[in-house]
Amino acid sequence: MRIVALLWKLSGEAFAEIDAFAWVQRWEVRRTWHTHAYRDTRFDALAACTICSAKGRCPTGLPCRRCRGTGRVNLLEPPASRRPERPSGGRA
Ligand SMILES: [Zn+2]
Repeated sequence: MRIVALLWKLSGEAFAEIDAFAWVQRWEVRRTWHTHAYRDTRFDALAACTICSAKGRCPTGLPCRRCRGTGRVNLLEPPASRRPERPSGGRA
């Protein structure tokens, strides 16, 4: 068990700076003794646009106003149709 503890300690030291950066950014960190995987939890707020079925275009061919042509919406942002400065496109 000492070798496992040593490997975890070495891993922690090797990834300390990156882990600190990830902590500041509020990223999720998944650790094993030899890998650290980082993920921005803001990706959880992305969802497929239900207006255009994630295509980014309305049946008229114009960019979808809800997702601004990206096919996905950020659930943390207000809908694009409520922003007066955005160009109008298909139905929303
Ligand atoms: Zn859309």
